[in-house]
Amino acid sequence: MPHTVHSRTLVRALTIVGDQDRLRERLNVSALQLDWWLKGLSRPPDDVFLRAVDIIARHEASEARTSHPLQIQMGSQPARCPNCDTTFFASAVPETEVNNRTQLSCLSCGLKIARGDLIVHLSSDVAKQGAAHVVAAKRMLSAAKSGIRLAPAKENATSQRKDPNESGSDR
Ligand SMILES: [Zn+2]
Repeated sequence: MPHTVHSRTLVRALTIVGDQDRLRERLNVSALQLDWWLKGLSRPPDDVFLRAVDIIARHEASEARTSHPLQIQMGSQPARCPNCDTTFFASAVPETEVNNRTQLSCLSCGLKIARGDLIVHLSSDVAKQGAAHVVAAKRMLSAAKSGIRLAPAKENATSQRKDPNESGSDR
């Protein structure tokens, strides 16, 4: 028999409570029954199923209470998870209290990464997109590192090397 929504729900509840003994107590069922249901070999009664759903719902509600979804922006670029490329993260503290050492977790794959590391990753992404972005990224990065506000840009004047072969590249 293929895995059913019932067995998947029980497996999810199992990963939340930790082990089969604890799940068995929470659901008030025998170990043998639970094993069968987990394997999808038979279908649990509705009241057992609903108790498993309840375990999951409570868990998700408490996770939602303790995490704050946020996006990390640099200019118009959202930071992406190095692992799965999503742009949504969660932190255990509200966005206003997030600093570079705050551990963020990717809402999609669960990767944990410090905000500062994420910004470094983002700035290397941005670097692929052009020199103007790099300057902006570096300014934002150093501002983020020192925690000070952005100063007016002077680095913009840094020598923009002109390739002799490329002179008059107006099209
Ligand atoms: Zn991810």
